[in-house]
Amino acid sequence: MNGNRESSGALPKRVTRARPRAVDRIMRIMAREIAGMELPAVEKISEAQAENPFQILIATLLSARTQDATTHAASTRLFKRAHTPRTLAKLPVETIERLIFPVGFYRTKARHVKKCCEKLVTDFNGQVPSTMEELVTLPGVGRKTANLVLILGFKSLRNICVDIHVHRISNRLGWVRTTHPEETEQALYRAIPARWWPLINLYLVTWGQNVCRPVRPRCADCAISRDCQKFGL
Ligand code: SF4
Repeated sequence: MNGNRESSGALPKRVTRARPRAVDRIMRIMAREIAGMELPAVEKISEAQAENPFQILIATLLSARTQDATTHAASTRLFKRAHTPRTLAKLPVETIERLIFPVGFYRTKARHVKKCCEKLVTDFNGQVPSTMEELVTLPGVGRKTANLVLILGFKSLRNICVDIHVHRISNRLGWVRTTHPEETEQALYRAIPARWWPLINLYLVTWGQNVCRPVRPRCADCAISRDCQKFGL
């Protein structure tokens, strides 16, 4: 289940190594500060559904380029109608489209959801697989989705899930210097102590939605401003 593809050897180009004490301080402050903030949609679904890997998988598929409230409402509607790979695979694509609208790219996502469920039934006996290698064979599933399923659904401590918030904030903090989220994932395995890996997504996504927003981040009110290098701002 280990998502780290570069666990030994020289540091890749453009990877910085964050100071562990500064990382600890930042993560502890974030843990305290996010306690009263709204959780990301997939975390809420994970909590509500007792870490059900299938529902985490489908909710994450729906969440790309979609507001959290929309993802949460669409997932809830969909799971009310069908909440297992077998029952969801039987729904016509048009029905899935109607249930998940208005998530972004709902037509493409509806096709992915159906094909993904069909593959779970035919190749995995209706169960969500628990390895990165198997998860990324599912239609519409990339490393981001697979990592989140492994962390939330299978309690993996060896994966980091990088979305646009994690990518942006890791660079602003100065933990990594990267251009693409996939590059950021690998750089973070090098830069951050492993004890924080499964928490990075929850903390940084919540921070990104509430404080370190893409446009006009709230640096003046930010509790980790002292430790942040504010790269790119
Ligand atoms: S100080 Fe600014 S750039 Fe750094 S984490 Fe806080 S809001 Fe983001």
